[in-house]
Amino acid sequence: MSRSAHPAGPRHADVLTEGHYTAPPTDLNVLDEKVWAKTVTRNDEGVATVGGIEVTRLAEEFGTPAYFLDEADFRARCRAWADAFGKDADVFYAGKAFLSRAVVKWLHEEGLNLDVCSGGELTTALEAGMPADRIAFHGNNKSQEEIERAVGAGVGRIVLDSFQEIVRVAHTAQRLGTRQRVQIRVTVGVEAHTHEFIATAHEDQKFGIPLAGGQAAEAVRRALRLDGIELIGIHSHIGSQIFDTSGFEVAAHRVVRLLAQIRDEHGVELPEIDLGGGLGIAYTSDDDPREPHDIAKALGEIVTRECEAAKLRTPRISVEPGRAIVGPTAFTLYEVGTIKPLDGLRTYVSVDGGMSDNIRTALYDAEYSVALVSRTSDAAPMLARVVGKHCESGDIVVKDAFLPADLAPGDLIAVPATGAYCRSMASNYNHVLRPPVVAVRDGEARVIVRRETEEDLLRLDVG
Ligand SMILES: *Cc1c(COP(=O)(O)O)cnc(C)c1O
Repeated sequence: MSRSAHPAGPRHADVLTEGHYTAPPTDLNVLDEKVWAKTVTRNDEGVATVGGIEVTRLAEEFGTPAYFLDEADFRARCRAWADAFGKDADVFYAGKAFLSRAVVKWLHEEGLNLDVCSGGELTTALEAGMPADRIAFHGNNKSQEEIERAVGAGVGRIVLDSFQEIVRVAHTAQRLGTRQRVQIRVTVGVEAHTHEFIATAHEDQKFGIPLAGGQAAEAVRRALRLDGIELIGIHSHIGSQIFDTSGFEVAAHRVVRLLAQIRDEHGVELPEIDLGGGLGIAYTSDDDPREPHDIAKALGEIVTRECEAAKLRTPRISVEPGRAIVGPTAFTLYEVGTIKPLDGLRTYVSVDGGMSDNIRTALYDAEYSVALVSRTSDAAPMLARVVGKHCESGDIVVKDAFLPADLAPGDLIAVPATGAYCRSMASNYNHVLRPPVVAVRDGEARVIVRRETEEDLLRLDVG
């Protein structure tokens, strides 16, 4: 696990043994539609295109590294989620996956709601015209200033995450002469089938109020007594990059049990439950994510069944996909700089970005795919590791991948499924400049987040 592995210094050569990696694909030139954005394909010359534009042209115009986002795909995914959940449910896009003013506009136009979890995300959302009542405010330690801005702006809901916050939000709303709609985030003791660092609903963690020991029931008791807040529901988020709905099933069961307990104790039926986000996407051809329609059907059935058993009216459901909407829509384009074959091990391919534009491999041992996109090749596959330019041996973008053996400096390679948690987690490590995000649609490319410049760096450094 990366947490216990050397934060700096040489990594031991954890040489792959037979069976530790999947065999090379039969054709390295194929761009598997499962992992690439919808409009990505190769033209007759073998150059990959997105939205009808060759990556070679994009590299010339916008430079590398850069993220290219397929706007048509993003919008289609928004619509698929909205259609799947229909009128009796709400879809909130989790802004932390990737947020910009253009994205907020698309969400607005496609009828989605938006989760934010900081003052910065709230400002971006409001500035780009998202109506406040379609915004949910999250976070386990919202500052007093953030609470005042959220309440003052009139956000649709604040998701309360601690006993302190119940009082803070209630008092703030009262002082501002309003009544704030809130949900209480509970931890249901479910550990999603995913990496430890990104699983968030088992009880030994910082988010939410545990159902265990009656803590969540006590939080509800307190919230119902305060005039400044209107408790509209219970929130549960069980993790990330989840592929099956069994975790949600247990979570829904436990949340509904709490709703029944609230009815029995206080005589109120809370009208909403939020099941969070966390739906997985395909980072490699081995991943099999479920379609929004499937997920909506499964979650709807689970909640309906649990409520019937508890003799409760079925509450309005909301979900909060982040990765599942934006993740597959973008790829990162890099230029190959150096190539080092290490005999008997693998070939290190260095690109012009790295852990500053994709920290997920170092942070979560995340798996990615990679392809040569500026041309096709008939060369044999070579086992490669794609690494960045940072002063850190853990600076790995793609741990194990096959690339053609004739790969050369100057070739363009691309890593798909980098729309979520890459630009939004990007850093300036080594004073490397964060890459731009370029939206591509119908033959047109437009910068939506520009590349950082050295002037940007120096502006913060006041000397
Ligand atoms: C991170 C997060 C999400 C989104 O998770 P994805 O894995 O991107 O779908 C949704 N809700 C909450 C509360 C979160 O913290």
